Amino acid sequence: MATTKSTKLPIKKYKKTKILATLGPATDTYEGVKTMIENGANAIRLNFSHGTNEDRDRQIPWIRKAQKEIGKPVAIVQDLQGPKIRLGDFDGIINVARGQNLVFGYKADYDSTGVIPTQYDLAKKVKRGEEMYIYDGKLKTIITAVKDGKVYATAENSGIMIKRKGINLPDTDFGGDIITAKDKADIAYGSTKDLDYVALSFIQTADDIKKLKRMLSNLGSDALVIAKIETKKAIENLEEIIKETDAVMVARGDLATETSPESVPIIQRQIIELGMKYAKPTIVATQMLASMTEAPEPTRAEVSDVATAVLLGADAIMLSDETAMGRYPLESVDVMKKVINYTQNHALHPISVINMEIEDNKSRAISHAVIELAQQMEATAIVAETKSGATALHVAAARPNMPVLAVTSTDRVAQQLALVYGVKSFVRPDDKFQATKLTNWLQKSKVLNKGDVIVTASGQYPGVAGVTDTIKVRVL
Ligand code: PGA
Ligand code: MN
Repeated sequence: MATTKSTKLPIKKYKKTKILATLGPATDTYEGVKTMIENGANAIRLNFSHGTNEDRDRQIPWIRKAQKEIGKPVAIVQDLQGPKIRLGDFDGIINVARGQNLVFGYKADYDSTGVIPTQYDLAKKVKRGEEMYIYDGKLKTIITAVKDGKVYATAENSGIMIKRKGINLPDTDFGGDIITAKDKADIAYGSTKDLDYVALSFIQTADDIKKLKRMLSNLGSDALVIAKIETKKAIENLEEIIKETDAVMVARGDLATETSPESVPIIQRQIIELGMKYAKPTIVATQMLASMTEAPEPTRAEVSDVATAVLLGADAIMLSDETAMGRYPLESVDVMKKVINYTQNHALHPISVINMEIEDNKSRAISHAVIELAQQMEATAIVAETKSGATALHVAAARPNMPVLAVTSTDRVAQQLALVYGVKSFVRPDDKFQATKLTNWLQKSKVLNKGDVIVTASGQYPGVAGVTDTIKVRVL
């Protein structure tokens, strides 16, 4: 167990919306990782669609070392590829004319047969009449037949195909079979590593999340689960999925292909609202600062997109290519942080939250009371003692306008809370006076000052989950 170091930053300056940055070739050094975290990244995504386990074996210890040096808990997210279907290998470009009939086959040899190869045995899942999009939705086809392991389709528009480009099947029901053999191997590998979250791509139902949770628990992993919302089916089952998962991502890239680009902003709002309703952290992902992969400055529209996510109350916003393979990875984190800070400090209205619906009525009552008291007292901060992280999570879900300082005895919980809106975590040993000791120490470190009003939520029995029963007001 590591005790979190102090922080020099005055408490009012903490950024509330968190940054999840993807690690990739552009940032793949210890210095790269450390600078991203220093510049404002609260969580790092390891994208298991790319890279090798040897890469991860290097990167995970880098993140932990940097977090210790900087004194700030960082969440590590394992992002599983899921049934991301791609074209197979072939040379050059395949030109497709509107109305053309195409044949697809699992691992087919295009040169000798004219059958277009796929990396997944589509014939097992797709049905006649379903839509199939190729190359990020650029080429639309309709499936006309499935026969002898081959898929026959007609092009609805002209376009091109390049090897390994993605395929989207918005109408196809995977029948609960969305965790691939590669995912299973990656889950097994991840369960032996120091990971805080596992994100699953292309889920369709709440059962997919249950299945992943079962696998993780059988492997002895204590990682939490992120549901990536990027299919039509997931939208149909949205509320059930959010109730089941630990956290949720608006995966706007594939989501736009599978639904429509114009529906994504509304779905984004819906997911953030449901996240607050069920106290599940939400992450807005993809193209937030896309132009910064090539340019040192974001576009006006991108700045506005980041600000919108902040104003809606997203827990975290994600950088993908920007930090993984862009030319300005560190600048991207900088820009994101600057926009978050300005927006939260100048927002014209509080974030609108709907009534929280969590199963634990006691915890809900306590978080409401703590926030109500803190607001009436114009408190500087709320301090939540939290064994499992639940108290801090529930308080944060109501988006109080003061920071939530979480104090816990385990690194895992502090790291998992790194993704949660407005929560700054500290790791201290279990103690009857954990919250009081933290507050005293923060005052000594000049993070809190004389005259500050603090509202604390704690339990009579330190280190036991689910027994927060004491609310206190302290004037320092
Ligand atoms: P990906 O997920 O980057 O793993 O595809 C996010 C998205 O689809 O937006
Ligand atoms: Mn995706």
